[in-house]
Amino acid sequence: MRGLTPGGVSSPVRAFEPCPVYFEKGRGCVVTDVDGNDYIDLCMAYGPLILGHAHPSVASAIMRQAETGTVFGAPSPPEMELVKEISGRVTCAEMVRLVNSGTEATMHAIRLARGHTGKRCVVKMRGGFHGSHDAVLSDRSQRRLRNGIPSGAASGTYTVDYNSEDQMESVLEGRDDIAAVIMEPVLGNAGVVPPGKDYLKKVRRMTEREGVLLIFDEVITGFRLARGGAQELYGVKPDLCTLGKIMGGGLPAGAIAGRREIMEKLAPVGPVYQAGTFSGNPLTAAAGTAALREMTKERYMELDRMGSELVSSISDSLEDRGVTAAVNVVGSMFQVFFGVGSVRNGADALRCDRQTYSDLFRRMLDSGIYMPPAALEVNFLSTEHGSEIRRLSEGFDACMRCIK
Ligand SMILES: *Cc1c(COP(=O)(O)O)cnc(C)c1O
Repeated sequence: MRGLTPGGVSSPVRAFEPCPVYFEKGRGCVVTDVDGNDYIDLCMAYGPLILGHAHPSVASAIMRQAETGTVFGAPSPPEMELVKEISGRVTCAEMVRLVNSGTEATMHAIRLARGHTGKRCVVKMRGGFHGSHDAVLSDRSQRRLRNGIPSGAASGTYTVDYNSEDQMESVLEGRDDIAAVIMEPVLGNAGVVPPGKDYLKKVRRMTEREGVLLIFDEVITGFRLARGGAQELYGVKPDLCTLGKIMGGGLPAGAIAGRREIMEKLAPVGPVYQAGTFSGNPLTAAAGTAALREMTKERYMELDRMGSELVSSISDSLEDRGVTAAVNVVGSMFQVFFGVGSVRNGADALRCDRQTYSDLFRRMLDSGIYMPPAALEVNFLSTEHGSEIRRLSEGFDACMRCIK
């Protein structure tokens, strides 16, 4: 494959040495590679699969819709259903525009914020990720990602440290050209980093005071941390949010949602252009609607319980072996940062010992557990992991014994 597609992968995070694993099938929390080996999956496609692989109600919704038509280039009932499901759950979602990926959602949310405010710049978090377009890849800590990005595109993006109220305050007070703050309410692309007490509320207050739009990028946290995502969990309402991953039920998906007054600036009602051949396509919409309908309050409680059980046994195991590490968890997402005492922002995350994580990844892989290959990614649990928590704890402990 490496001769035909760069690195043998369709997205760079999937590559690892000497060779990525090629998966042939998945069912529940288990994936099977092309050689027939099974793994308990903790990567879960980087977030979409909150119901596990090939969930029966999602699979049958896809099959039914596939037989009825996959794209019309016109509005259709399934997309209206999905829009209703989203706006019924997400507090800020007075209106919703469906797109095809998280990248598309943040790209157009930023354009919309610029169009609405008439201002040019955005503020993002160091270590925050919002997809792979120019305006949001200019983080200093990710300098190697800047090749091919015109300096003009990057010059409109300011970065601050997550969880720093002072930095946010000074960037907002010091400038009058900022259209929006875009941030993951829980950092999910620098491992997992939860917000400090009242941090999000303070950011909300500061942005409101300065007339800057607040965009929560809930592509990971949306429909994962609660029915209404991080904005429900932390009780903070942004002006706009971006969604993706879970809302597609395992098919490519994205959405921009937010206040009516802003959303109505989008074409065809308003002057900010945004479009897509496959946007709102009925196949994704059917899968997404089926997935969201499965996710009851009880299931979120169950996910939280699994997350805390697994993380507490992982922490015990690290402590028993005298290993210095921070273990961050929010609900069903967690990550282990080796060699550091605590991780409160993207810079802390970058200081962790990634070599030890790679050793762990490899040993876990050999013992039949597929973690995300890179240290700054997230382990995700699904509703199907319940019966495997014990095996995951024991597997982790056995691997740590070998690493020590
Ligand atoms: C995955 C992700 C994106 C990009 O979504 P794609 O569907 O991969 O384009 C954007 N923002 C966050 C927070 C993400 O985790």
